[in-house]
Amino acid sequence: MLSEAAGDAVEVTVIDRGDAFVFGFSKLDVMFGRTTAEAVRLPYRDIAKPGVTVVRETVTAIDPEARRVTTDAGVHEADVLVIALGADYDMDATPGLAEGGNEFYSLAGAERLAPLIAGFSEGHAVIGVCGAPFKCPPAPSECALLLHDALVARGVRDACQISFVIPFGTPVPPSPETSAALTTAFTERDIAFIPGRRIASVDPSRSVAALDDATELAFDLLLGVPKHRAAEVVIASGLTEDGYIPVDFATLQTRFDGVYALGDVATAGVPKAGVFAEGAARIVAQTLIAQLQRGESPGPHLGRGSCYIEFGHGHVGRVDIDFLSGPTRTGVFNAPSAALIAEKEHFGSSRRERWFAG
Ligand SMILES: Cc1cc2nc3c(=O)[nH]c(=O)nc-3n(C[C@H](O)[C@H](O)[C@H](O)COP(=O)(O)OP(=O)(O)OC[C@H]3O[C@@H](n4cnc5c(N)ncnc54)[C@H](O)[C@@H]3O)c2cc1C
Repeated sequence: MLSEAAGDAVEVTVIDRGDAFVFGFSKLDVMFGRTTAEAVRLPYRDIAKPGVTVVRETVTAIDPEARRVTTDAGVHEADVLVIALGADYDMDATPGLAEGGNEFYSLAGAERLAPLIAGFSEGHAVIGVCGAPFKCPPAPSECALLLHDALVARGVRDACQISFVIPFGTPVPPSPETSAALTTAFTERDIAFIPGRRIASVDPSRSVAALDDATELAFDLLLGVPKHRAAEVVIASGLTEDGYIPVDFATLQTRFDGVYALGDVATAGVPKAGVFAEGAARIVAQTLIAQLQRGESPGPHLGRGSCYIEFGHGHVGRVDIDFLSGPTRTGVFNAPSAALIAEKEHFGSSRRERWFAG
């Protein structure tokens, strides 16, 4: 948006230690063997916009007062700083998870799981969340439903049990309708739903996961969602409170002038999901464009976004979330259908086109 509005009159530097973007939902596609990790990587080198430079560097320090970012390659001084470093996974917070289980929230983790899922033919599979908040709250439910489908397709479902542990009382708390549809789907598919609990530790020697109420679940395959935390460099910057960067919900501004934070790294009154990171980024861009062009500032961030939910059986549902525009958060459910598969595909391809095609 900055490039479109101002071309090379504004110098935009995007710093990322990685060399490619991957949609969160692509990890489910990779773990269930629908595609490969290589195929879902969108290289940053394809970004070609006037005024925009993408550099592959690791941020090692952030000075919000001076709006200065230090990386492994040097120092970047900025007039405006937008922090969007996401959330890291804290494997150590769940003892035994790294050795005894698997996680499907990183691309590498999803890739490691693909052959394990393809070879899983009998026993107990546990999908377990290790702490909240976590990215894309519907994703573990999708994992449970897609695992069921994968086992049915291979004719081994009757030899397997599936349990799903989540710290919330319902699968998608802001949307009772979505939660009801998901819990019905779990019952229909004989998936044991264990709400209000998280995986507290894993004993690799016994292949047992302990929940936070000390209940033990023996497993043959553990698909974990690790506890999340802001990156060390973000915590060291002094910007965080309760683990993440607090911002003004309306403007995404931190307590420092000209310093914004958005996406999973921020406490912005919205769930940790890409669609909200995108919406927040749009508000920040509009604010900066208004400052440049002495135009009108945008309205507040309304925290609205649609999340697609894989229900299995070749169907996708959608929940339309509104977190900030009214007195209470809402989530309107759109029943799973084959038509929503095409809509989800368009969601991905339209962004791919806009962000990565020259
Ligand atoms: C299985 C799964 C399914 C999902 N499905 C959906 C979905 O259907 N819809 C949806 O909206 N969201 C979904 N999400 C969530 C979505 O992927 C995230 O919420 C979103 O990517 C957050 O964007 P972000 O820009 O805040 O962080 P990220 O996308 O994590 O980007 C942060 C970037 O910062 C970089 N970085 C971190 N530390 C450093 C450093 N020190 N130096 C330099 N660079 C650094 C990283 O390399 C990364 O590229 C899903 C997530 C998962 C795991």
